[in-house]
Formats: sequence, structure tokens, C-alpha cells
Amino acid sequence: MDIYFLGTGAGMPTTRRNVSSMALRLYEERGSLWMFDCGEGTQHQVLQSPLKLGKCEFIFITHLHGDHIFGLPGLLSSRAYQGGVSPLTVFGPVGLQRFIHTVFELSETHLPYELHIQEVESGVIWEDEQFAVTALPLEHRVLSLGYRVQQKERPGRLDLNLLKEKNLLPGPLYGQLKRGQDIVLPSGEMVEASSVLGSPIPGKSVTILGDTRPCENAIKLAQGVDLLVHEATFMDDKRENANEFGHSTARQAAQIAVSAGVKKLALTHFSSRYNDERMEELLKEACELFSNTVLADEHMIVTTS
Ligand SMILES: [Zn+2]
Ligand SMILES: [Zn+2]
Repeated sequence: MDIYFLGTGAGMPTTRRNVSSMALRLYEERGSLWMFDCGEGTQHQVLQSPLKLGKCEFIFITHLHGDHIFGLPGLLSSRAYQGGVSPLTVFGPVGLQRFIHTVFELSETHLPYELHIQEVESGVIWEDEQFAVTALPLEHRVLSLGYRVQQKERPGRLDLNLLKEKNLLPGPLYGQLKRGQDIVLPSGEMVEASSVLGSPIPGKSVTILGDTRPCENAIKLAQGVDLLVHEATFMDDKRENANEFGHSTARQAAQIAVSAGVKKLALTHFSSRYNDERMEELLKEACELFSNTVLADEHMIVTTS
């Protein structure tokens, strides 16, 4: 599980950075990727990346500002040409359905795959036996959501040496033991799952927040996660601007990371006022509070470990 950043700029695209989009790659876990936000030009960024839209299972939209959503209709339309014919669900705040339907209706766009649009507010918005996704509203000028992706606990590893000693070779009985079921060997010997199964493996977790000023729900969503992706539109001298426009400074993002006890912080959504040199200062402001901070960049991969 890692995050591939497609766009890390705020407000509008520049030659240095595209607007917001990222892909949570779950290749090992489920052979798919989940996208978060889809600013204008996202499909160009995808074309210049190793990502395949055919593998895109879900798109989560944080809010309806253009720098997070103007690339969505185009990407949805092109997806089929890139081998994406499997059903796709887009989650996002109220208004998402009207936005997509209006664009598709006026442009007479017809998708050759099943598209589901799910408007969400708060709570667990999706779950299966592997993952759960929770959303909560943040504090921005329009309704902006944060998402927490939580992988569920997995069964521990089988003690292969012990099983070999019992002359038990890999097969269906291994599956039963992994599921915690006791088995009886052909010899009549009973093998308790708990005696050959290691302790459960905790799931990984990632929190991706939409644009926001610091707020309680950001801390709630990020509690103890392996990786928090937080906007850092400004440096600390622009704290007033940040507050007025519903954004955060790098230092404020770091404070959220500290309060939530996260393991790693990735900053994104940077104002175009900062050149690469000043970005180093922005990073420093965050690192003074939370040292395990990285600056996201175009086509950069941030791991959860
Ligand atoms: Zn934005
Ligand atoms: Zn915004």
C-alpha cells in the first residue's frame, strides 16, 4: 500500500505542479488503485505515470472546488479507452451527482461501463472483509471531506516448520487453520489453529484530508494512522490568510499529526507562491514539530512504512 501523487499544487495548475490528485495503490492487497480527487489535467498526469485507469476501483472526491474535481468528467470519459470497463464508484459530497450528470448530459457522454455515484456525509461509507473507509466533514469554504482507509486485521502467519513436523503439506487444511478452524489429521491427531497460528497482523491505515483549516475531525480521522496526507497551502507567516480561506499552514498540519499520533505525514496542496527553495523552509516549519514529514511532489511515491 502506497500513495502515488499526481498533482500537488493548490488552486490552479502551474508548469511546476498540477492540481490535486493522488492514487492509493493497493496492488498487493487487491490488485487495484483508489484515486483521491481529480483536478484538471489529472488524466495527463496519469498518462505520464505507470498507473492504469483500468485498475481504478474507486474515486473519492474531497470537495467540489475546481482544483479537485475539474478533471473528473474527462478522466471518467477516457477510462474505457485505457482498458477500464469494470464498474467504478465515485464517492463525494452532495452535489457530485448533479455535477457529473450535468456535464455528461450536456456533452452527450455515454460511458461503456457501470458508473455509481455515491454522495456521502460522515461515518463508515464503504466496507468489505479487507478494508473500511470512513469519512468526516472538515472546515473549508464548502463542504470538504476527509477519508480514512483502514485495512482490517489479517490472520497471523502459519508456523510452517511445525506443520512440516506433523507431515502436513500445503493444501486446503492450511486455509482452514488460517481461518482459525481446528483440524484433524489423517492420523487422527487434532491440530488446534491457535497452536500453529502467529498473532494477527494489524492492518495499515491512511488518512487523506480535503482542504481544511485545523479542526477536531482531522485529528479524529488521523488517530494513529500510518500515513496522513494533509494540505499545507501556506507557510506560517500566512496563518491569517490560511484561516480566512479555510486552509492550513505546514506547521498547523504538523500539529495535527502530533495531536493524532500519526506515524508519517505527507504535505501537499502547496500555493504557487513558493519556489523550490522556499518549499525547503516550509518543510522545516513542519519538521520542527513533527520530524517524520515529507513534501509530496509530482509523480512521487510515499510509502506507509
Ligand atoms: Zn484546493
Ligand atoms: Zn478547496
